Amino acid sequence: MKYHIKTYGCQMNYSDSERIASVLELAGYKKTAQESDADLIVINMCSVRKSAVDRIAGNFKKYKQYKKINPNLKIVLTGCVLESDRERFEKLFDVVETRHCLVSTAKPHYQNKFSAYVPIMTGCNNFCSYCVVPYTRGREKSRPAEEIIGEITGLVDNKYKEIILLGQNVNSYKSKVHKVESQKCDFPKLLKLINNIPGNFWIRFLTSHPKDMTEELIKIIARCEKITPHIHLALQSGDDEILKKMNRKYTAEHFLDLVKLIRKYIPDVTITTDIIVGFPDETERQFQRTAEVMREAKFDMVYINKYSPRAGTASYKMKDDVSWEEKKRREKILTEILKKTALENNRKYVGKIVEVLVEKIDGSFIYGKTRSFKNVKMGIKNRELGIKKGEFLEVKITKAKFWNLEGEVVK
Ligand code: SF4
Repeated sequence: MKYHIKTYGCQMNYSDSERIASVLELAGYKKTAQESDADLIVINMCSVRKSAVDRIAGNFKKYKQYKKINPNLKIVLTGCVLESDRERFEKLFDVVETRHCLVSTAKPHYQNKFSAYVPIMTGCNNFCSYCVVPYTRGREKSRPAEEIIGEITGLVDNKYKEIILLGQNVNSYKSKVHKVESQKCDFPKLLKLINNIPGNFWIRFLTSHPKDMTEELIKIIARCEKITPHIHLALQSGDDEILKKMNRKYTAEHFLDLVKLIRKYIPDVTITTDIIVGFPDETERQFQRTAEVMREAKFDMVYINKYSPRAGTASYKMKDDVSWEEKKRREKILTEILKKTALENNRKYVGKIVEVLVEKIDGSFIYGKTRSFKNVKMGIKNRELGIKKGEFLEVKITKAKFWNLEGEVVK
């Protein structure tokens, strides 16, 4: 029996798919890269954008064809499914199973040999007014610290170099620590415990909510040598009124104070963010406030989303009154600001020697990332021909571009 998993959406879904694959393999299934060849197709869906939901429903004709060829084919829909879509999907798929579970006694089927996603919590209690996650993934649940430590220790023993801790809000992680300790383990404590695992590896984490970003956490990120200097802190809007309508629970001033604090303790930090343009009722003045915050925060990367209403969320009831053209214009303005700040930040690397983890070797180039999450492209010279994916290199940065750096391998 062969299985094929199709994953949509964020890293959490990719990590869940690795765990689903391990359960299927324990049950005797073999993976196939061709979905037309499978006896079991698992669709791990995302409901954050309507376009992804429509694409999944649109694929159903193709699945019907597969079923004609293989009448035993079963198609399972899992992942983030809104209750309002459930009835429609139950008519289309054999099974719709959406209970999210962090219990992972089975060893995940990691897709990568040197970098691994490790979920530490799932769900969300924040109910941002535009977001489906609290409805699809439910309330926050944290994995026991000792289970996380056990999984990471195993990965490091198997020579993994990069551990990416995942959660909708990693910094609201809360769980019982090792049985010997009675107190709860929060995110700063968990980071310290992971940092104490012996071995040469990097720790990344995403994503962080500004309301849970404390000075204590920033200090720990600065102090622990294995934690990489990259913080993804979602701004969403630079206008307090819009932030309130979004139910984000912080102000633009608080966000900028956090950015200052982060840069004070971690001077070489990379700060990335998410922004939504064209939220209901967002005026030009309110949009300009977001642009101002962007100029001040000097982000390294911004994932800009044009607002689109999602059924079941609080903002669905608000009038989506900013036109798509206007959203595109706002997106373009923010992209221009980002280009300036990203290039300015990248230029600080030129002439420096930095550590790079090799991710890809393609033709005559090596591609990798710095500790601070900057993409680096390096030319292959004869002496580097033995370089493999998953190795750390010392690289001298020779050129800064908007979205990446270029460099030469030193060691
Ligand atoms: S914090 Fe807000 S945007 Fe993030 S998952 Fe929770 S509800 Fe969604």
